[in-house]
Amino acid sequence: MAWRLAKSLVQLQKELDARFPNRTRPDWTIGDAAHQRSASDHNPNAAGVVTAIDVRGRDMGRILWDHLSRRKDPRLKYMIFDGRIMSSTVSPWTARTYTGSNPHNDHIHISVGRGPDGQSTRADLYDDTSPWGIATIGQSPTPAPAPSTDWLTEVIMSLPTLKRGAKGAAVKRCQALLAAAGYPPANSFTSRGEPDGIAGPGWEAALKQFQAAKKVKNSVRPDGTGDGVCGRYTWERLIRG
Ligand SMILES: [Zn+2]
Repeated sequence: MAWRLAKSLVQLQKELDARFPNRTRPDWTIGDAAHQRSASDHNPNAAGVVTAIDVRGRDMGRILWDHLSRRKDPRLKYMIFDGRIMSSTVSPWTARTYTGSNPHNDHIHISVGRGPDGQSTRADLYDDTSPWGIATIGQSPTPAPAPSTDWLTEVIMSLPTLKRGAKGAAVKRCQALLAAAGYPPANSFTSRGEPDGIAGPGWEAALKQFQAAKKVKNSVRPDGTGDGVCGRYTWERLIRG
């Protein structure tokens, strides 16, 4: 099966190579036969994307554990090193004892892109190529600034990704925001003017127009049309303007 590594991890590799040119390579990416028999982010997900990497070397493990635990990047799903695991969602950013058979003493495991189902399904996260701040490691006595984690960001991160066919409160919110932004979805409001909460063709068309007009990150196709999926960056633009 054809596969590729998540773009955020390709970005991480680039930054590590630049900052630590003598580190042990290659990184471990796609699972070996043993991995492939069990559920692992080293196996390609449904989209053919491997969303985990093992960076080798005890020194690199220490450096990355320290850096990522301070930076709290929402792309990180969890990391495992030296008998400890840290997740962005389960007891967020707290080191817990790792009880798996391999304690990860000589490499650090990094998974990205946690979706609402707990699997690595959030392409808007795992293919986000924003810098990981590796270049700043050891360059300054002050810690790297954490990305903004204000309450509005938390709200945006908690919203589900919407596609045509979705239903419910989040769709209502999206329909209302589109209308407020000047892109009212057709056939999406009740006679009383309330959003109907159904992501139908009218909603999809309005969303695509909004994405194309605002050039929403990771949401515009090469031909300039919106992709019609309301993910993190589209929500961000709808909410923050
Ligand atoms: Zn691993």
